[in-house]
Amino acid sequence: MSEQKYDVIVIGTGPGGEGAAMTVAKTGKSIAVLEQYPQVGGGCTHWGTIPSKALRHATSRLGEFNRHPLYRSIGKPAQFSYPELVRTAESVISQQVSMRHDFYDRNQAQLIHGRAHFLDSHTVELRAADGRPKLRLSADAFVIATGSRPYRPEDLDFTHPRIFDSDTILGMPSTPRSITIYGAGVIGCEYASIFRSLGCKVDLVNTRSQLLAFLDDEIIHALNYHLRDQGVMIRHNEVYECVEYHADSVTLQLKSGKKIKSDAILWANGRTGNASDMGLEALGITPNGRGHLRVNANYQTELPHIYAVGDVIGYPSLASAAYDQGRFAGTHLVEGRCDQHLVEYIPTGIYTSPEISSLGRTEKELTEACIPYEVGHSWFKNLARAQITGKTVGMLKILFHRETLELLGIHCFGNQASEIIHIGQAIMSQKGEANNLLYFVNTTFNYPTMAEAYRVAALNGLNRVR
Ligand SMILES: Cc1cc2nc3c(=O)[nH]c(=O)nc-3n(C[C@H](O)[C@H](O)[C@H](O)COP(=O)(O)OP(=O)(O)OC[C@H]3O[C@@H](n4cnc5c(N)ncnc54)[C@H](O)[C@@H]3O)c2cc1C
Repeated sequence: MSEQKYDVIVIGTGPGGEGAAMTVAKTGKSIAVLEQYPQVGGGCTHWGTIPSKALRHATSRLGEFNRHPLYRSIGKPAQFSYPELVRTAESVISQQVSMRHDFYDRNQAQLIHGRAHFLDSHTVELRAADGRPKLRLSADAFVIATGSRPYRPEDLDFTHPRIFDSDTILGMPSTPRSITIYGAGVIGCEYASIFRSLGCKVDLVNTRSQLLAFLDDEIIHALNYHLRDQGVMIRHNEVYECVEYHADSVTLQLKSGKKIKSDAILWANGRTGNASDMGLEALGITPNGRGHLRVNANYQTELPHIYAVGDVIGYPSLASAAYDQGRFAGTHLVEGRCDQHLVEYIPTGIYTSPEISSLGRTEKELTEACIPYEVGHSWFKNLARAQITGKTVGMLKILFHRETLELLGIHCFGNQASEIIHIGQAIMSQKGEANNLLYFVNTTFNYPTMAEAYRVAALNGLNRVR
């Protein structure tokens, strides 16, 4: 078998691989990008971020339309099946794929399809889906950006037509009347919102005592309240025992003795890094129990010429961060140094209903650290823009130092929360005195806007310290 030689090989075309590949390709080095899936874009484009957000947009638009008195006055509520709504994601996916494909072509990064397996620390074999070797390639350096997959417990039959994970849920062939979601992390909560807005009966089973415990308490309570208010049945502190399979339903049995019968189960409890079956162990690169690779601050594994980025290295497991990690690893690989690092506070965007976004420290963290902070609130129901759009559920909360007025945390829920957060991020990421609550009071905002929430929250907070 002939062997092709490159300066750099990137494995995976999700955001992590793309960030690394583009950075390296622009320096003129010869580069091959290996991808086992027939199209570029990674899990992010094909079964994670993009389809779930497109589906969420379609279901929430439908719900909005059906609830709006003006649109309802012209006829019956619109009805679309789950597969029809999933199909709306296809056009977004194909736009993303063609745009990203173009990036590789334009930058002369050679894209080769197949599954990469290391033969030695400088050589990979590319294998077809049936395991047949297709090609052998070697390089001076590698970036592993192979992503992650849903964790599947061994005793659960994922070939059963009523059992899904977050990858296979997109292929569910009809709208379930009821669904049980096991795992109330970000993905579980997002899908609970999606299915509820489709009118399904939703049971959300949480293995912990509260939803999304990393968020600020006030936001956690709001999410709990609004999901329950919409009709989602949330069950905390539950542990899976087994599943009973019936012809027309499935029953999730919990260790507490509860049994939840539904049309389908979505298993959304944990993810595993894609680092196994790649020949890495033989090189001395051993994934941990969650399938994650260990890297240093420069994204180098145990072998310094083999880098790893994105979900395969674990936290924060976000598309946004994966792309940046890829760029930083690519820069270090080419230049031998990289002065850029992930920002200290990575914003969280959670596309539940209501949407959630947060940045920086929570009230609990500040209290534990004995930092004298104060709180400024703005409720969306009092903002003209929210009253016009009818999206009045929501709140922006700013946490700031009561003496210096430095922004310490921003927490938001409601329509467009994940966009709104970035206004505060721009100020909070300033150095020294420029990170100051007074910015929001001393500037003039467009009116009516959701951005105005910052002025309202800042004034509310200042009233508490003056
Ligand atoms: C349902 C869901 C919703 C999400 N929503 C968000 C969100 O709203 N915002 C956000 O920031 N993040 C979100 N994420 C997370 C985000 O999708 C991931 O963090 C991101 O995709 C990680 O990028 P990556 O490049 O590491 O891996 P991936 O995007 O998974 O890409 C990895 C690629 O490597 C390929 N590959 C794997 N092994 C091999 C091999 N041996 N040889 C060749 N190719 C290989 C795979 O086929 C894949 O194309 C979501 C995830 C899920 C599951």
